[in-house]
Amino acid sequence: MKPINQLISIASITLVVGCVTNNSKPVIESAGVDMVQYETDLCECEQITTQVEQKADMGAAEGALVGGGDSTVFWITFDGLRWQEVFGGVDTALMKNESYTNTREEIQTRFWDEDPLKSREKLMPFFWSVMKSEGQLYGNRNFHNKVNVSNKQWFSYPGYNEILTGSADPTIQSNAREWNKNVTLLEYANQQKTFNGKVAAFASWNVFPYIINDERSGVPVNAGFRTAVGSKLTKKELLLNEIQGQTPSPWTSVRLDVFTHHYALEYIKKKKPSLVYIAYGETDDFAHNGDYDAYLNSAHRTDAFIRELWDFAQSHPKYKGKTSLIISTDHGRGTFPIDSWRSHGTRTKGSDQTWIAALGPGIKALGEVKENMQLSQNQLAQTVAKILGLDFKSQGTAVKTIVE
Ligand SMILES: [Zn+2]
Repeated sequence: MKPINQLISIASITLVVGCVTNNSKPVIESAGVDMVQYETDLCECEQITTQVEQKADMGAAEGALVGGGDSTVFWITFDGLRWQEVFGGVDTALMKNESYTNTREEIQTRFWDEDPLKSREKLMPFFWSVMKSEGQLYGNRNFHNKVNVSNKQWFSYPGYNEILTGSADPTIQSNAREWNKNVTLLEYANQQKTFNGKVAAFASWNVFPYIINDERSGVPVNAGFRTAVGSKLTKKELLLNEIQGQTPSPWTSVRLDVFTHHYALEYIKKKKPSLVYIAYGETDDFAHNGDYDAYLNSAHRTDAFIRELWDFAQSHPKYKGKTSLIISTDHGRGTFPIDSWRSHGTRTKGSDQTWIAALGPGIKALGEVKENMQLSQNQLAQTVAKILGLDFKSQGTAVKTIVE
C-alpha cells in the first residue's frame, strides 16, 4: 500500500512544519487574503529593475511534428522548484543552516554529495538517469543555458497563465481566484474534434480551476481539495476521496501532491486522455515555510511520481512510443541573501529563472544542454501544441531543439 505509506510520512512532516512555522509571517502567496496582500506588496515594489533578457525566437514556428497523429503529452510542473537544485542537487549552505533544516543528517545521507553532479542524481534520480540519457534538460545557467519567465510578476498565476497559454498577460497581477479570460492550450485542444473529451488537468493548488477556466473550457480540473467525481469511480478513487478529507494538510489552498498524483494516474488508466496537465505544488509551499528538508523530500518524491507516469506510459499500448513528457516550473526563487530561497516575485532577484525538461518519441537525446542559449516560459505551450499537431496561436514559439 505505497500511497498510504507515503501519506503517513508526509503527514508527519507537515505536523513538524506547522510547529516550526507558526510564528513566521504569512508568505504563502496562494493563501486567500494573505495572497492578495502579497501581490499588493509586489506591485508597490516595482523599482527593482532586474530584467529578463528574452530573445524572441521568431522563426521557429515551423517544424516537424514530433510524435505524429496519435501523440499524447503528459505536461507537468513543479511549483517553484529552483534550477539550482535541479542541476546542482542539495544547496550545502541551506542544508547546514539549522533555521531551514531539521533533519540534516538524514538529508545529507539521502541526497547530498560534495560533487553536485552526484547530489542531483540522488535528489532526482529519474531526471538524471532517464531524462538525461533519453531526453533534454535546459536551464543550467552555469553553462549560460537559460530559461526565464517572460511575465513581469514572477509568481504563480501569471506563470501558469504564461505556461498554459504561451503568452504573458501583464493584466494578471494577483493569484486571486479569478476566471482567466485567456484560452489555454488545454481549452483549445478540448475544442478540437480529435482531442475533445481527451484533455484533463490535476493540480494541488485550488486556483487552477480558475486559471484553466474549467467552467468555460469544459476541461475537467481536479485541483485543491476536489475529489474524483463521476458515476463509475474506481476503488482507488473512492479510497483517495475518503482519505483526502481525513488527512491533515499544512495549507488551506494547496493539497499534498500524493493526492494530485494518484488522482491523475488513476484517471489516465481509466479514461486514457491524450493531453494531461499535472501541477504538483508542494515544493513552493514548503519553501515558503522555510523547510528545506521538506522541499527536497518533495522534489525527490515528485521525481519518482514522474517516473511512475513514464513507466506506466511505456507499459500501455495507447501511450507506449507515443507519449512525451514536458516538464517545467512556474517561477524560480532567490539565492542571495540566503533567506531569499524562500521567496519569489520581482523583489527576489533571480526568481524569474526557470528550467525545462523534455522526453519522448522524436525528441532527440541531447541530455543536459550546455549551449549558450535563451529559452522562455512562453515557449512551452507552442512546444506541446507542435508535439500534438495542433495549430495553436501564442506569443512564444516552440522550442526548436525539442520539436525538430
Ligand atoms: Zn510561491
